[in-house]
Amino acid sequence: MLMQSPTVGFDALNLIDPICRAVRDEEYTSPTPIQQKAIPHLLEGRDLLGCAQTGTGKTAAFALPILHLLSEGDQASGSKSPRALVLTPTRELALQISDSFRVYGRHLNLKQALVFGGVSPKPQINALRRGVDIVIATPGRLIDLYNQRCLRLDKIEVLVLDEADRMLDMGFLPDIRKIYSMTPKNRQSMLFSATLPDDILRLTKDFLSDPVRVSVNPPASTVEKIDQRVLFVDRENKGALLESVLQDEDIDKVLVFARTKHGANRIVKNLGKARIKADAIHGNKSQAARMEALKKFRAGTLQVLVATDIASRGLDVDGITHVINYELPNEAESYVHRIGRTARAGAVGVALSFCDAGEKGYLRQIESTINRTVSVIDDHPYHSESIASKRVSASGGKAGGKFSSRRYGNHTTGSRSSGGPGKNQNRKKHFSSKPGKRTRSRAPRAVASH
Ligand code: AMP
Repeated sequence: MLMQSPTVGFDALNLIDPICRAVRDEEYTSPTPIQQKAIPHLLEGRDLLGCAQTGTGKTAAFALPILHLLSEGDQASGSKSPRALVLTPTRELALQISDSFRVYGRHLNLKQALVFGGVSPKPQINALRRGVDIVIATPGRLIDLYNQRCLRLDKIEVLVLDEADRMLDMGFLPDIRKIYSMTPKNRQSMLFSATLPDDILRLTKDFLSDPVRVSVNPPASTVEKIDQRVLFVDRENKGALLESVLQDEDIDKVLVFARTKHGANRIVKNLGKARIKADAIHGNKSQAARMEALKKFRAGTLQVLVATDIASRGLDVDGITHVINYELPNEAESYVHRIGRTARAGAVGVALSFCDAGEKGYLRQIESTINRTVSVIDDHPYHSESIASKRVSASGGKAGGKFSSRRYGNHTTGSRSSGGPGKNQNRKKHFSSKPGKRTRSRAPRAVASH
């Protein structure tokens, strides 16, 4: 969930009026902690090391000051030598960042181009030829286009390295070093990373000059605000449980996580048989297919998106009401990233985890990472008492039993279409979040079309 400062408004940041208007259009009432901490320093031209993960409002933390700084002065807008460069690890993130620049810069006259691999370079080359102020790029394709002389980097004033830890995980370090060496030494640089391992700290020494360091709460504190539940179920009943859960009237926009690409495809196929519209995003899908699925999901024409961990990195879709871990991840950190896709920007979010007998060890690890015991929903049709009964909670005691009769006990009317071996099949609002809906509304974002 996105924290906003209760006291400081955007006015205090002294951003130019067209940016303040764009922020108001978005119905942001106050800057998030990372925005509040970073923006004043960035407007002064300082380098910055930001320790923040996606979901904290970090895109606006760098996009707003960049738009402000580029709008100052009287340099001609749009040329083959862009003035700001944002490097990011994945195409999805590049699209989201570009989308944010478009939204926040809608009352300005700055031009941007998106540069990423996996699609034809032609439209990107044409956009660069027409002249741009801001380039948002993944490293490989940027270097290709640079080598083909489609753009120059000698006028870069601001350089952002986003999700630096993932970039390094993905082996982009040599490319990043190359790109840095092509840009002017006196540029302003920012580096954002969710974690700060040693290799990132080494990178900051080389590339940032006397940086201001800002950090916002680690993921665990975000996670505390998400309504998390576990459902014990035999592996072979997971498909039926998912169908059953999706009948719940409060489940609006659902992101389902699978461990493998095949697993994700299988879930989509089975949901299709049950006439539930779903699509998958994972590494085997073409970029066009992934973009199409995301577009439909954002627009609300697709209720269910099934993703693998890699494909979901940085995914930013407003209004995801539920994250479902169809399979628990074998790393607790992935769990934190997964469930952080819901409860964005002040919304209420629910995370449901389907845990079979083989996944109880993962659950234990997760509970010890987030430092709490995840509550059990046991009044669903596929509840497995034998899995639940052996459960030992993170605090060492036995956990489980009937959960929250207050929440679910009041919703026992209505009928369920899918039958099952268990009890209590006649519920319609098993899996809802609290009645409160999103506190901030916004039209779904369009996928950028460069
Ligand atoms: P990010 O961490 O950049 O991925 O942003 C996460 C989400 O927060 C996006 O959907 C933004 O539109 C939203 N957001 C960013 N800044 C604010 C703010 N000050 N108030 C409310 N929502 C925000």
